[in-house]
Amino acid sequence: MTRWRYAAATDTGLVRETNQDAYFVDDAVAIVADGMGGHAAGEVASAMTVDKVYNGFLQRPTVEGVVRAIGAANRDVLANAKEHPERQGMGTTLIAVGLLDEPGGHTVPVLFHVGDSRAYQLRDGALRQLSEDHSVAEEWVRMGRLTPEEALIHPRRHQLTRAIGVDQPLEIDVQTLSVQVGDRLLLCSDGLSNELSPEDIAEIASAPGDLESAVHALVQAATYAGGRDNISAVLVEFVEAHEPSLMVNQVMLPPPPTPPRAEPVASPLSKRRPKRRVFTWRNGAVLAILGALVWGFFAIMHWYAYSNFYLADNAGRVVIYQGQPNGVLWYKPHLVHVTRFTMKELRGADRAAITATVGEPSLRASLQYITYLHAQWQLSLPTTTTTTTTSTTTTLKAKK
Ligand code: MN
Repeated sequence: MTRWRYAAATDTGLVRETNQDAYFVDDAVAIVADGMGGHAAGEVASAMTVDKVYNGFLQRPTVEGVVRAIGAANRDVLANAKEHPERQGMGTTLIAVGLLDEPGGHTVPVLFHVGDSRAYQLRDGALRQLSEDHSVAEEWVRMGRLTPEEALIHPRRHQLTRAIGVDQPLEIDVQTLSVQVGDRLLLCSDGLSNELSPEDIAEIASAPGDLESAVHALVQAATYAGGRDNISAVLVEFVEAHEPSLMVNQVMLPPPPTPPRAEPVASPLSKRRPKRRVFTWRNGAVLAILGALVWGFFAIMHWYAYSNFYLADNAGRVVIYQGQPNGVLWYKPHLVHVTRFTMKELRGADRAAITATVGEPSLRASLQYITYLHAQWQLSLPTTTTTTTTSTTTTLKAKK
């Protein structure tokens, strides 16, 4: 098991108006994030990142769990900047140490690092820098293009080559730490490391006594030295230490986000469900054909219902109906014409034919038929006197 004591301090410094650094420390995690970006955006980026990484650690205290959480923080900061255009370009550094589970039930300290905040290890008054700055000037020092002294005053010393909220994909330095009881770790923002020499840091951070005094002395010393940036420091001291079984020192990429789980796999029904949701051309075509069939059926029924005309006896008067005598579905026959003939002006057999509702294909055919029947009746009369019919003819507008 590995355990530590801890203390932390932060200060806005003497020049900056706001403190865009954020930190968190408890008995298992220590985090410092140095946010950047105007309109308070740097504070948003650093606070979001500290929160996300801490919660990721709580959920999965493993290297993979923390790397995944840092990847999620990176996506969150990028997404937040997209939602709030005034925060565009915001980002943050991250330096964090977590006591992570090892096989066998032990925990060991593992360092995670992006940007130019730093981690130092202190042992017997000596200081060792654990992290490499991801800044243009420091990378040039590593490449041999600049000396460390030149880097301290180089105009691009603050320009980061890696930061959360800027890079996608994000490269994270991951390092298991070998520590002994009594060792201290210092995590700090560049507001501390830029103001104090390594010798000053070593002396103040390893001062015997309580960690609180040491960490406040560090922040105060950086303020007196100029305080040109926000200053944050987290100091931990190991009271119990365990050697890692496997030393890791590598650059890791967070995995892509896991897509939201659509359905639980357990239920056999769930496999069919996604199909139901999706509108496809195939479904659309099936719907269109069904619609056409339904429409076609009613169109045919309508046509059939009103394609027929028949004569009928309406209180002694011969009238013409359009429609099927008994109706079709809800399409009832309409009275479309009242002829000038009465039932009495027809022969007896023809009256029976009318009652039997003989169908005709059109109004005109119906009129011709009744005119013919009437003529037949006239011819059958014993006298040749022409009957004058005075009936009026009413034509009703044929309803469709
Ligand atoms: Mn800073």
